[in-house]
Amino acid sequence: MDQNRIYFFDTTLRDGEQTPGVALQTAEKVEIAKGLARIGVDVIEAGFPAASPGDFEAVQTIAREVKGATICGLARANEKDVQKVSEALADAERSRLHVFIATSDIHLEYKLKMTRAEVLEKVKSILAFAKGKFDEIEFSGEDAARTDLDFLCEVFGVAIEGGATILNVPDTVGYMIPAEFGDKIRYIREHTPGIEKAIISVHCHDDLGLATANSLAAVKAGARQIECTVNGLGERAGNAGVEEVVMALKTRHDYFGDLEVNIDTKQFTKLSKLVSRLTGVMVPPNKAVVGSNAFAHESGIHQHGMLNNPQTYEIMTPESVGAEKTSIVLGKHSGRHAFEDHLKNLGFQAFTEEKINDLFAKFKALADRKKEVYDDDIIALVADNLNHKNAFALVHQHYELGDQGYAYAHVRLTTPDGEKSDAAVGDGPVDASLKAVERVVGLPISLKDYQIRAITAGKDALGEAVLKVEYNGRMYRGRGISTDIVKSSVHAYINAVNSVYLAKELEEEAQ
Ligand SMILES: [Zn+2]
Repeated sequence: MDQNRIYFFDTTLRDGEQTPGVALQTAEKVEIAKGLARIGVDVIEAGFPAASPGDFEAVQTIAREVKGATICGLARANEKDVQKVSEALADAERSRLHVFIATSDIHLEYKLKMTRAEVLEKVKSILAFAKGKFDEIEFSGEDAARTDLDFLCEVFGVAIEGGATILNVPDTVGYMIPAEFGDKIRYIREHTPGIEKAIISVHCHDDLGLATANSLAAVKAGARQIECTVNGLGERAGNAGVEEVVMALKTRHDYFGDLEVNIDTKQFTKLSKLVSRLTGVMVPPNKAVVGSNAFAHESGIHQHGMLNNPQTYEIMTPESVGAEKTSIVLGKHSGRHAFEDHLKNLGFQAFTEEKINDLFAKFKALADRKKEVYDDDIIALVADNLNHKNAFALVHQHYELGDQGYAYAHVRLTTPDGEKSDAAVGDGPVDASLKAVERVVGLPISLKDYQIRAITAGKDALGEAVLKVEYNGRMYRGRGISTDIVKSSVHAYINAVNSVYLAKELEEEAQ
């Protein structure tokens, strides 16, 4: 590996998927993975195949369908996990195993109940098992940032001897301060036997708001792989955002020196929107690089300076991250060709003719109800129609309002056992409609969270319903759009039910 290059390892689909409430379906993960490959990330961590049959299926599908990046799967240090990763990655263009074991004393004592000597033995044996099954192996010491440094160097030395060429130092709990973290990376470079045969990677969490700063301090100290996510998604406070780390390295190449960064930054805004839409996690307006206010100059003094010379207040341009103003793109009279071109511009390149025809029909229906169709509307429309394996679909719905806020709703759905309909009474039309759907579906599903928001401005705006349901102790997310919010809600609920049904089928198949 090239020591003058920074490698980007994206974990949006693994750590990012551990964001509370995020539960992506396979088709959504594939779309994100394609977006990641397009911006040029080197490695895509597609998931944790041993975690569930759904995770396995997603990693396998990405390995088969996404080209141009190394596809990686996560494993604990046991043979079953490693075997699962190797099966899931069998068809990848280039495969990487990411295997980890905790190395800090606190994790050894309270979690693993292992001695340091036992950990060294485990690393040796698991790498011997993994050898030859992958194009490359990355080894992580979980909680490395709080691990005794000399022990960590010893573990890394054993991992290098066992064939690992990427050594990851995660700040699992987000505890590090930049200068301190940089010192640790320098120490590891100087004291790990065989380190010249490998590169050092870092994985920083944002619990103290320092994930990007710590990643950059590590680069300055010699780390050459950065693990990050789109929009900084990830467990708890999240990970370092790929857009922040890349723009800092590019904007301040005077400080970092001539390090090669092969990322197409012009696609950041597009990718950020896609990930936000699919995960249901909004980007705060003040978020660096991809927030909607990141390039807005409000104060009069700033505006005056900007007009004379943008560099007075602007360290990077909106164009460099693809954040030009949203324009009205399509309307009622746009043809199929213009629509297809536009899908490609938005980054959706892999649809079949049949899928494009289907989306075009939905776009036409939308354009009939809504004068101006914006990029965000189209992204929402596509996001809503990514999944084809739908067990349940709405055929007809109808509601009536009664006295004192009560409503009566009737729905008809296609189900795996043919068409069925049912009715229910509830507190308002949304409640009544969801209850009617629940009766048709007949699974013990409970609604946990429900939100409605407008996608673009105007009184004819699309209303998006995002909700979460719980089934068998796991959360599933659903999303639906329509200019009618009762319809949005019913679509979102059926979307969540389909995820439940799909997961249930996969579990049953696996048994
Ligand atoms: Zn993490």
